[in-house]
Amino acid sequence: MEGYMSERELDGKVAIVTGGSRGIGLAISHALAEAGARVAVVARNSERAAAAAAELPGEGHASFTCDVADPEQVSATHKAVEEALGPVTILVNNAGITRDNLLLRMKDEEFDEVIAANLKGAFNFTRSVTRGMMKQRDGAILNVTSVVGLMGNAGQVNYAASKAGLVGLTKSVAKELASRGIRCNAVAPGFISTDMTDELTEAQIEALKDQIPLGSLGEPTDIAAVVRFLVGPGARYITGQVLAVDGGMVM
Ligand code: NAP
Repeated sequence: MEGYMSERELDGKVAIVTGGSRGIGLAISHALAEAGARVAVVARNSERAAAAAAELPGEGHASFTCDVADPEQVSATHKAVEEALGPVTILVNNAGITRDNLLLRMKDEEFDEVIAANLKGAFNFTRSVTRGMMKQRDGAILNVTSVVGLMGNAGQVNYAASKAGLVGLTKSVAKELASRGIRCNAVAPGFISTDMTDELTEAQIEALKDQIPLGSLGEPTDIAAVVRFLVGPGARYITGQVLAVDGGMVM
């Protein structure tokens, strides 16, 4: 039970957080840094990623510019993270985008871009870190999916498909790598206040609140607290799970 509920239960660990520069990913980077991990903040905008890494608590964090959709950038970034910070045993696949449109109007590019960033991006990073985690016999992979991947959503066939795909990826990775000491879980946020949900109108937010038993949108820290738990020693016997953090929307 050692280290199970300690204040710095991730001391000495190196964590990659994709999309760690803003919103939910930034809150996750903070939570893992507070738990003692050294965090590699990965995003496309290098200035924002650098600013995010600089404001994390503790020492030894760094930022890396990378488009998760590009497998070559991902393997080069993973190599650079290991050279700078050491072997990676925690991966949080959080980077994600929306390109909403009604099915009949959706362009090929809108569908492909969302699948490439949200689903292929997670595959790219997971494949890259797996060999190192197998060598360490230690790994925790966490995918940020969405309640939309579980329930569907009008106007988001691309996004919902990418997030449902992440659920299948999570369970398959969990089954394939459990015997190697690697766990893989997912969180499915409901509606959380970030840049992504800033696009919603007041009327849309009021309508959403009616579907949320706990009665309000969530905060990025609500997701980060659960991610910290799932990648840490308190969750050592949990793998292949998808945990909705959504104020009770899906039950
Ligand atoms: P956000 O505020 O828009 O932040 C997205 C982050 O991902 C940014 O750091 C962004 O940085 C990065 N990113 C986007 N595309 C990338 C790419 N191709 N390569 C590398 N980094 C990329 O979004 P958020 O609301 O925090 O959402 C974070 C995750 O939670 C997403 O997977 C989202 O689908 C999921 N989620 C959010 C909600 C919600 O209500 N907000 C609900 C359910 C699930 P750059 O732009 O600099 O690359």
